[in-house]
Amino acid sequence: MAKVLVLGAGIAGHTAALYAKRILKKQHEVIVVSPNSNYQWVPSNIWVGVGLMKPEQVIFKLAPVYKKQGIIYKQALALSIHPEGDSERQKAFVTVKYVTGEQEGTEEKVEYDYLINATGPKLNFAATEGLGPDKFTNSVCTYDHAAHAWKNLQNSLEKLEKGEKQSFLIGTGHPLATCQGAAFEYALNIAFEVNKRKLNHLADIWWISNEYELGDFGMGGAYIKRNGYITPTKIFTESILKEYGIQWIKRAGVTKVEQGVAHYENLDGEFHSKTFDYAMLIPGFAGAGMKAFNKEGSDITTEVFAANGMMKVDADYTTKPYEEWKSSDWPSIYQNPKYDNVYAAGIAFAPPHAISKPMESPNGTKIYPTPPRTGMPSGVIGKIVAQNVAHRIKTGKNDHPHKASMVKMGAACIVSAGYGFIKGQAAVMTVNPIVPDWEKYPKWGRNLKDTVGVVGSAGHWMKLFMHYMFLYKAKAKAGWALIPE
Ligand SMILES: Cc1cc2nc3c(=O)[nH]c(=O)nc-3n(C[C@H](O)[C@H](O)[C@H](O)COP(=O)(O)OP(=O)(O)OC[C@H]3O[C@@H](n4cnc5c(N)ncnc54)[C@H](O)[C@@H]3O)c2cc1C
Repeated sequence: MAKVLVLGAGIAGHTAALYAKRILKKQHEVIVVSPNSNYQWVPSNIWVGVGLMKPEQVIFKLAPVYKKQGIIYKQALALSIHPEGDSERQKAFVTVKYVTGEQEGTEEKVEYDYLINATGPKLNFAATEGLGPDKFTNSVCTYDHAAHAWKNLQNSLEKLEKGEKQSFLIGTGHPLATCQGAAFEYALNIAFEVNKRKLNHLADIWWISNEYELGDFGMGGAYIKRNGYITPTKIFTESILKEYGIQWIKRAGVTKVEQGVAHYENLDGEFHSKTFDYAMLIPGFAGAGMKAFNKEGSDITTEVFAANGMMKVDADYTTKPYEEWKSSDWPSIYQNPKYDNVYAAGIAFAPPHAISKPMESPNGTKIYPTPPRTGMPSGVIGKIVAQNVAHRIKTGKNDHPHKASMVKMGAACIVSAGYGFIKGQAAVMTVNPIVPDWEKYPKWGRNLKDTVGVVGSAGHWMKLFMHYMFLYKAKAKAGWALIPE
């Protein structure tokens, strides 16, 4: 009996665990280690952050789903991986620490034959002084952060209703932050809520971003087909912000936040501050912070993980100039180069390089978005990693028939504002591939047939539909595997 150990029960890990168990059935063990007892559909946290959904609507308990599927679940945090075992045991294991129940605080060595690391991002608030829900800004990155953000937002909305002016600052809270799409969506939702209450004249809404041009979204921007002509996402994004009455600051790396004020440096090397009554700024992302040790107990973390704490996989991590980056640098099977039974799925894998052009201020501060790590690729990667692991277990062959490169994969970004069937609208952008391939598509970097932008209510309905569809799938209800990632 082979043991497949999955770390993390987010979009990538949960998908991987469900598929691994579905293929391997009772003959093999699938174990999930994750500290949060809930699964959360992260994209809908935006709606929690504006009070249109309750946290209960975006989460469900993992334990009953895993019990039904025959997956072993440990509510614990993975601390370190030991791919060669240790002096006491030959077999590879992960040290985990229980976070609840009678075992709380105790550690266990969980053995594995195959490891899938899907621990997502560490929300690195500490990298920016004063950032985060415990300090001076809000976050919508988790459902509890989003519920807290809504409480604070209500406060600002009440002040607006009393005739008091309020300023809102939404965007990236670190010079190298990613996830611009989520912050952008939240900014539009705030503008929508303010507009719904007819309070625009009192609200000053600002978008702050580390992008060189708006619409970069960490993927170097895109040329999209829209209404029969081709336009850069810069124009698309700026016109949407204008329409929603949102002003912007670009090329800005937020380095420090204090009560009501964000300090930032821009690419010209100037230092500025922006005051706010309410701020939601996305933190920098890092890996989960696990360590790795060899059988002698020596620390091999830097061999297994990249400097940002994300796991090294089958990518080309050679340092080379931006002009020499190639689509083939990107991984397709997510296998660790040092330990071939170790894989990383979703945000947990280290990208080979940024997609947006790296930029630096005259003071040497790097200010540009790191690659976006969206849900669809995370789910697809989780699935193919599980399929390949199951294939190895069943055939004994170390080959990988299933591949999923971000250079071949498309993605859809739905930026939806408002809620319900009549009151919402969305900007939908699809890009294919996510990472531009200038060799294959020398003119535009992507296939223009599938790289489009549309604004209207259809996209909003799609987002609402996806909320229910993906939660249905994640609950592993009848026919779940037929629903695409
Ligand atoms: C507000 C917001 C809105 C978004 N909207 C969209 C959208 O509309 N469309 C889209 O495609 N993408 C969207 N995204 C991005 C999407 O949510 C992520 O791509 C996706 O969640 C990544 O999946 P993941 O499994 O890699 O990480 P996560 O979903 O973060 O899951 C990581 C898992 O690992 C667990 N974990 C962490 N540390 C450890 C540890 N040490 N040991 C064990 N387990 C651990 C966590 O508890 C969690 O279960 C949004 C993101 C945010 C923040």
